[in-house]
This record gives sequence, structure tokens and C-alpha cells, in this order.
Amino acid sequence: MTAQLNPRGDVAVLVPAAGAGVRLGPGAPKALRLLAGEPLLVHAVRRIATAPSVHTIVVAAPPAEVEAVRLMLAPVAEVIVVVGGATRQSSVAAALGAVPAGPEIVLVHDAARALIPPVLVESVAATIRAGHDAAIPVLPVIDTVKEVSADGLVLGTVDRSALRAVQTPQGFRRPVLAAAHAAAVDALTDDAGLVEKQGVRVTCVPGSPYAMKITTPFDLALAEHLWQTQPEPGVG
Ligand code: C5P
Repeated sequence: MTAQLNPRGDVAVLVPAAGAGVRLGPGAPKALRLLAGEPLLVHAVRRIATAPSVHTIVVAAPPAEVEAVRLMLAPVAEVIVVVGGATRQSSVAAALGAVPAGPEIVLVHDAARALIPPVLVESVAATIRAGHDAAIPVLPVIDTVKEVSADGLVLGTVDRSALRAVQTPQGFRRPVLAAAHAAAVDALTDDAGLVEKQGVRVTCVPGSPYAMKITTPFDLALAEHLWQTQPEPGVG
């Protein structure tokens, strides 16, 4: 069934999905790899579309797959599909440029985090609605972390109590994200990094293990298991 987005919602979600996914091994672009018989991107969009505040979803697709992505998402939700760029950052910028007037909260969510719980979309959006400029979901770092030299010698042990692993969706007041992208010079791996460079304060909210990034064949196997135990979008 096609999900109905909320015409009175205040949130646009950008989904960069144009990466090759070389770490998953040879095959289709990562967002189009199958999890439980459907592309990762379809899972991600279905879950995002379930979140009640979402007004607009914009997907940045691999350039060769734009039509295929439009067709595969048509039964899932009414989604805007744009051509992705050579870097994640340029894919996000292309998606941001396609957001219609209206939503003043913009979230950026990696298609590779296919099992995103809709409640996480809502909690990040609520943090921006409450007056913060930028918000990111984070998890504590569980392993001990060491700084190591190029030749494998330990240089020191990092205090992990001050470290967090960062997920998506990352949320922003729309003008804050637009200004950060307009000013961007280096390609960074996340959007919070861009707004940090503008001196914007970024607030942390609790992340979810279900928002794990599917990068390697091991991650895909783990995600298959998680999907089998909890296939419904409302969980997590
Ligand atoms: O490569 P990485 O795992 O950091 O990619 C994170 C997300 O950014 C993925 O969903 C990927 O499809 C997307 N991406 C993109 N355009 C690129 C590279 C990555 O939309 N050129």
C-alpha cells in the first residue's frame, strides 16, 4: 500500500542513495541491494514514510538508476527522485535543492540505514522543533578505542566516555543546512560536520541499534536477522 505523507507535516527527509557500495562487494549500487527480498532504499523509505511529521521525501538516486528508483518507490510513497552526485555531500545538496516550499525541518538519512525506526525520525525532528539548530542520533562507543601509528604501534588510549558513534537521520533547521551546504568546501562524511564548521551547535539524541549502517556483507546478514525478528516499521 502507498503510504500517505502528511501534507501538514513540517519535515522533509533527504535520502542520499547514490553510493556504489564497494565494501559490500561487486553488484548493484548499495541502496539497491536486497534485504529480505527488497532494496535497502525501499525499506528505508517505507519506514520514513510511516513517521507522522514527514511532508516530503527526496531521494538522490545513482545516475543510471533514476527511472528504476522512481518505479520501485512509486508503490511505497510519493517521493521526489533526483540524480545523485559523485560524493555523498553533492547527492545531499542535489536533494536539498528539490525540497518544495513548506517544510522548515530537514532531515538527512542514509539509505544504507534501511531499518531506521520511525520513532527516531520523530525524535530528531522534535529536537529541531524544540528550538535546536541541529540534532544527531548517537550511541555510546562500546569497544576500547586506541590511537595507532601507520606501522601498527599503539600511541595512546582514547577516553571513550567522551566518544559517540553517530548515525542518521541528522536533523537541521532548513536555513542552517542550506547555509552549510552553500559554504561547503571539503567533502565531509556527514552533514552535522558541515554545520559544525559554521559554528552551529549540534545536539545529541539517543540513537538506535536498528539505525545501523549496512556497509559490509556481515552487516547485511545482521540486518536480515533483525528484519526477520521485527519486520514491522513501528518497532525499534
Ligand atoms: O559511502 P557511505 O556508506 O558513507 O554512504 C552513505 C550514504 O550516502 C549511502 O546511502 C550512499 O548511497 C549515499 N551516497 C550518495 N552519493 C554518493 C555516495 C554515497 O548518495 N556519491
